[in-house]
Amino acid sequence: MPSLNAGPPPDVLVIGAGLAGLACARDLRSAGIDARIVEASDGVGGRMRSDRYEGFVVDRGFQVFNTSYPQVRRRLALRELRLRPFTPGVLVHTDHGRLRFGDPTRGPRRLSALPAREVTVRDLLALGVLSARDALAPARVLKRAGERTTWTALAAAGFSDGFVETFFRPFLSGVFLEDELETSSRVFHLVWRSMLRGTLCLPTAGIGAVPALLADALPPGALHTETPVEQLTDGGALLGSGTEIGARAVVVATGPAGVAALLPGVEVPPYRVVTTYYHAAGASPLGEPTLLTDGRRRFLNTCVLSDVVPGYAPAGRSLIATSVLGTDTPGRESRVREALAEAYATGTEGWEPLTVRTVLDALPAMAPPQPLSRTTRVGPGRYVCGDHRATGSVQGALASGARAAREVLRDLGR
Ligand SMILES: Cc1cc2nc3c(=O)[nH]c(=O)nc-3n(C[C@H](O)[C@H](O)[C@H](O)COP(=O)(O)OP(=O)(O)OC[C@H]3O[C@@H](n4cnc5c(N)ncnc54)[C@H](O)[C@@H]3O)c2cc1C
Repeated sequence: MPSLNAGPPPDVLVIGAGLAGLACARDLRSAGIDARIVEASDGVGGRMRSDRYEGFVVDRGFQVFNTSYPQVRRRLALRELRLRPFTPGVLVHTDHGRLRFGDPTRGPRRLSALPAREVTVRDLLALGVLSARDALAPARVLKRAGERTTWTALAAAGFSDGFVETFFRPFLSGVFLEDELETSSRVFHLVWRSMLRGTLCLPTAGIGAVPALLADALPPGALHTETPVEQLTDGGALLGSGTEIGARAVVVATGPAGVAALLPGVEVPPYRVVTTYYHAAGASPLGEPTLLTDGRRRFLNTCVLSDVVPGYAPAGRSLIATSVLGTDTPGRESRVREALAEAYATGTEGWEPLTVRTVLDALPAMAPPQPLSRTTRVGPGRYVCGDHRATGSVQGALASGARAAREVLRDLGR
């Protein structure tokens, strides 16, 4: 691979090879600009990476891939990811047993008998109205709607407290990584829409296959891993190696910690922390590729990853991922395993705690007022992109990278 400082300096230096940086560099390259990415770690993907661990595929924190995000549809040849779907809908573990909340648009057989105590006819009607509007209205209508917290929006939509506590709070806590339902209602409606219109799934090779596919389209010499940037300079950036790289424009696509270090004046929102426990078991405790949430809120969600993608575990083993808010603290794994024994209605003593992944900057907080997209220009020749400049999602990160490319191109007169 040509070295970074061989030949003329790049037009644009993109710092960080997460989704935002990859999208930005690809768009600049498509416009004929010499854009090069420098990435601190040993691979692409940032928060979206997968490791091979003792024969298992371990994503760096459990996450799902949604096929309906507009940026995903525009940029990725989905067939190459060999996607495996989750069952539409979720299971909720409650004091009265396990409830199935199916997606009625994909088959009524998926609705279980629901206890009248928690779910009223009015709730089901409200769910139908909300889902029909979110799925069918043009996205711009949802984007322009007034904003409040998700909790307030659900109450205004007519849902009972019982339904919110049984279904929405456990489910959305796992989506937004917060359990107060304080996320912007506009973000909630857009995410709900994307779930109704798309399929939640996982690539056969792990979630890291998504950024890897984006990176594959870059020409040789455009991406340099293990190349951390130490600081920005007047004409470019100073690498950790001590080499200065000049560039007409610099795009900081580093995630929140990198922005704080390289662009101290630029505001980043607080971030949500999540921990995923990975357990190995001899057999699947569920036997279906379905997300299970906890109405008692001892964990956010759990699923048998090897029921979704068999290749996530070696033959004869099952891989279970369970996420909780916050960090891994002493004794937490065994408390989670106790809750899982109840939720899966099975003994978990024989489960092997395989590994734990804590992500300190998993998702930006998105309480109202939450702009859906913000300019990436932060100074002459300086740009910043990432999920914190849009929404905390694959869609948000890619869209922010695309916006940075547009703004750079405009400023370069292209
Ligand atoms: C556990 C978890 C679950 C999630 N679940 C979902 C989900 O279900 N659906 C969804 O849509 N989204 C989900 N997300 C969010 C989604 O993964 C992120 O929004 C997105 O990946 C962020 O991409 P990014 O490019 O903005 O930043 P990042 O992925 O953080 O990329 C930043 C890159 O910059 C590099 N870097 C940092 N500093 C430097 C430096 N000084 N020099 C060079 N390089 C540097 C980093 O190594 C990294 O590769 C989840 C995230 C996590 C962590």
